[in-house]
Amino acid sequence: MDLPTLEVSQTPKEKFREYLASGPRPQRFTRQHADMVDYIFSKHNHFAADQLIDEIRQEGLRISRATVYRTLKKLVDAGLLRELEIGQVKYYEHDYGYPQHEHLVCQKCHKMIEFQYPGLDAMIREVCRQHQFQMDGHSFVIRGLCADCNRSRMMKRRLDLV
Ligand SMILES: [Zn+2]
Ligand SMILES: [Zn+2]
Repeated sequence: MDLPTLEVSQTPKEKFREYLASGPRPQRFTRQHADMVDYIFSKHNHFAADQLIDEIRQEGLRISRATVYRTLKKLVDAGLLRELEIGQVKYYEHDYGYPQHEHLVCQKCHKMIEFQYPGLDAMIREVCRQHQFQMDGHSFVIRGLCADCNRSRMMKRRLDLV
């Protein structure tokens, strides 16, 4: 279940090209950059860097591990991707053209469920205001068991009782 996407004026590739060209040391928009942006923005997903490396190899794209890591960092700086730390693993997902949202993470099947809850944003802004804290971003993760895993756990418990 994806959240509704936002309207954006540029394509992810145009936005990334503009980011690379700006700043004191303009960088070239390479074929590898284009392939990575195309691949990443073909579907909304939460992915770790290693997972992305495996997938793009399977697609037959030739991008070195170092380039993938460097480009992911640039995509975050450019505002195209956002980082999400869950346990020891850093995940990436679309930021550009995708609304702010939070996650429920199932610790059994590792499913990530996205949600939006307006009252939560108001609360976070209020906490920052109270601390005179200038927020750059936030991630709010609820860990536990998803409905499917919880149901199968209950079933198992019931079977154990008989
Ligand atoms: Zn689950
Ligand atoms: Zn998400």
